[in-house]
Amino acid sequence: MQDALSLLQTTFGYPAFRGMQADIIDHVAGGGNALVLMPTGGGKSLCYQIPALLRPGLALVVSPLIALMQDQVATLREAGVAAACLNSATTPDEARAIAHFAREGALDLLYVAPERLLSPRFLEFLASLPQIALFAVDEAHCVSQWGHDFRPEYQQLGQLFQRWPQVPRIALTATADAETRADMLHFLQLQDARQFVTSFDRPNLFYQVVEKDSAKKQLLAFIENDFPAASGIVYCLSRKRVDDTAQWLGENGIRALPYHAGMSHEERDRNQRTFLRDDGIVMVATIAFGMGIDKPDVRFVAHIDLPKSPENFYQESGRAGRDGLPATSWLCYGLNDMVQLTQMIEGGDSPAQQKQVELTKLDAMLGYCETASCRRQQILAYFGETAPACGQCDNCLRPPATFDATTVVQKLLSCIYRCGQRYPAGHIIDVLLGRPNQHVQQAGHDQLSTFGIGKELNQKAWRSVIRQLVARKLLQVDVVRGQSLLLTDACRSILKGTEQIELRPLAEARQRQSVHGER
Ligand code: ADP
Ligand code: ZN
Repeated sequence: MQDALSLLQTTFGYPAFRGMQADIIDHVAGGGNALVLMPTGGGKSLCYQIPALLRPGLALVVSPLIALMQDQVATLREAGVAAACLNSATTPDEARAIAHFAREGALDLLYVAPERLLSPRFLEFLASLPQIALFAVDEAHCVSQWGHDFRPEYQQLGQLFQRWPQVPRIALTATADAETRADMLHFLQLQDARQFVTSFDRPNLFYQVVEKDSAKKQLLAFIENDFPAASGIVYCLSRKRVDDTAQWLGENGIRALPYHAGMSHEERDRNQRTFLRDDGIVMVATIAFGMGIDKPDVRFVAHIDLPKSPENFYQESGRAGRDGLPATSWLCYGLNDMVQLTQMIEGGDSPAQQKQVELTKLDAMLGYCETASCRRQQILAYFGETAPACGQCDNCLRPPATFDATTVVQKLLSCIYRCGQRYPAGHIIDVLLGRPNQHVQQAGHDQLSTFGIGKELNQKAWRSVIRQLVARKLLQVDVVRGQSLLLTDACRSILKGTEQIELRPLAEARQRQSVHGER
């Protein structure tokens, strides 16, 4: 019988295993259960494909995406592996042929959509097989409502495992926060499985966050100072912003090209090819750009709008520095990003529970931006890893000193309270600064005791205070009712004066210079 390494070399044409592949394959081929967490591109497929070939019988692969399935099967067939897939696009004739081959023992791998797998007919087919080699569950995070693409059928896979307990199973995913991981263990009955967790760390990525002031100007300064003539990607939230930003960079001497779904196919293709081929192009894009893009020497990924989840952020920023050389993730964000994204989620068509999940992910993203400690640590913690402070992100290089902001925060909270918790940040700041504009006068807020009590800070500094309090859940932004600021229960002890609060330095004191040059 062939061993794993010679299969890798002869069938798949690779000289050696990567990272944990060899261990995982050994374990599963030997009949063990496994949970595999590995970043995208890490080489998960071989972890079940090779055991499938090493073990007698048919291996079943559960996969949620038809396109992905078909790709995999095509690649396997090219390599001479007997593989097939069953999904909504399979005709009854094809399905019969597949069943026939499988019973004959002439099929090694069968990719199946989850809804098919649990049909009575398919279970009957499974029972008729001489032997099942293994169950592989790809994109296993789909089992969890916390995952970004929940598939209810995944939760029923447990039935299968109960019926065939002696068949080894392997679940694989690239994204799993703590809740998702717990769900995978539970629903896929992997409590006793060995867990193979490849680190999500990207040691050559430098993480930097700046407060949004004038995003386009800040972006231009960042590129000019840190990465003149380098290849980079700039992510924006909307198509219009992509066009504006690409144009602005172009007018300022940067070779920038736009990319978004509103452009013609030809134009997008042309820009993508130029980006891949030439050096020093900055691609300004919506998140439509990047899937399957493998350009090793992207030196920076800039976000000029807040990504909606840490998963998005990790994947997008991860497109920098694939060659292992130093690269930067630069993110520019402000309170309005938070408000805008919250509105998009609240106003979207997702069911209530899904909205809650999305809001929680957005909160985690805000946490990354507002943290005063190591950013790498923060990201890794989200993916379930504990790591020491990295010593090389912006916060590690220049630890932001905190200051006692109790009085400042008390002024803000009582001003919000006196205004009836019905006004957005801009209005509250006008009252604090004692600006008797039309809105303030109409509301009679120039008569409040809190009118003009916050003149020691400027508008920018107040925005920074508000952002930090939102990130810490002392304030809430009510997007349904005009983005008004609301106090949360956690405020009480601060208002009463029984608790102190430390904040990061405020905007004007934080004109950070580029830390990049100091590495
Ligand atoms: P994932 O599913 O984790 O995103 P894939 O299984 O699609 O990753 O693998 C990513 C790429 O790496 C594929 O092109 C694959 O052929 C390649 N690859 C996987 N394992 C190896 C290896 N041991 N040596 C070389 N290339 C590999
Ligand atoms: Zn750090």
